[in-house]
Amino acid sequence: MPVKKIGITALVPPELIFSCGVTPFDVNNVIPASRKYPGNKLCAWTAIWKDMLVKKEIEVDSLVVVAGGDCHNALVDGQKAAMSGIPTHFFFYPFDGDPEYLGSQLHRLSLFLGGIKSPEKFKEIGELKKQGQLLDKKRCSGKLSSSEAFRILISFSDLAGDLAGFSMIISDLQEKDIEVRNRVALIGVPPIFHDFHETAQSLDLQIVFDELPYEFIRHGGSNIQEIAVNYCGYTFARPLEFRIDFLKNELKRRRVDGVIHYTQFACHHMLEDEVLREKLDYPMLTIQGDLPGNTPQQVKLRLEAFREMLDRQ
Ligand code: SF4
Repeated sequence: MPVKKIGITALVPPELIFSCGVTPFDVNNVIPASRKYPGNKLCAWTAIWKDMLVKKEIEVDSLVVVAGGDCHNALVDGQKAAMSGIPTHFFFYPFDGDPEYLGSQLHRLSLFLGGIKSPEKFKEIGELKKQGQLLDKKRCSGKLSSSEAFRILISFSDLAGDLAGFSMIISDLQEKDIEVRNRVALIGVPPIFHDFHETAQSLDLQIVFDELPYEFIRHGGSNIQEIAVNYCGYTFARPLEFRIDFLKNELKRRRVDGVIHYTQFACHHMLEDEVLREKLDYPMLTIQGDLPGNTPQQVKLRLEAFREMLDRQ
């Protein structure tokens, strides 16, 4: 019998999904290259995956919508997708970081997924995340390009649905020797432009930190209790001050010269821009995207001007 495919709309501990004998599929990962332009939308990310699920252009056996935590639009578009007949579970992170609450959410999720059948998957994924951490370090020291690193790190949300295959992809990466000038952190939700990292690189901006993908590799645990405690530190689901404290340490540790804050049209995270600018003491460029595709020319021009400003510093 084929392994069931579970659509996820944001970070849902993949350790638990795989250990229940089913496979996660992050519905966001197909969007940047999709070239889809939805008619009725706020945020293009949720509008596109909702349309694709309803039209069965993405086929899943069931869906887990992160309805409380890191995305408000997903709550509504997730319900619209559920109305098309897909068995759907709504998952909530605790804003106050209460591990008991998250533990109860994870238990409910495991029931929805049929219960834990392969507990060894917790450890197997833990080992893969160690490889992810190593890869992240390599790109910080110029041993890997930021575009290659990003492509792998962003896939840690669902580990490409294939643990052995994903491990091979990581092992096959060839080390490079890249001069890392203009060390830049990319914060906020990931850009909807599929070539953003290559574009930044071509303009001599080396992205040494991808905020959201880093969340995908830094949480884990070997059972439900441990992942409940650990995933309570998922910064996007917590108060802004919690996230900013984490960011300050990470930006310092990676010795960044500047910050790019990517915002998405009609996303509530846009409202955080002024606070991030006030609290993070770095030159900051805020850009906004809407529809998937190549990085637009005006964004390229702004990246170039930002690089010139960093050069002068
Ligand atoms: S960009 Fe914002 S609104 Fe859109 S899916 Fe991400 S968190 Fe949700």
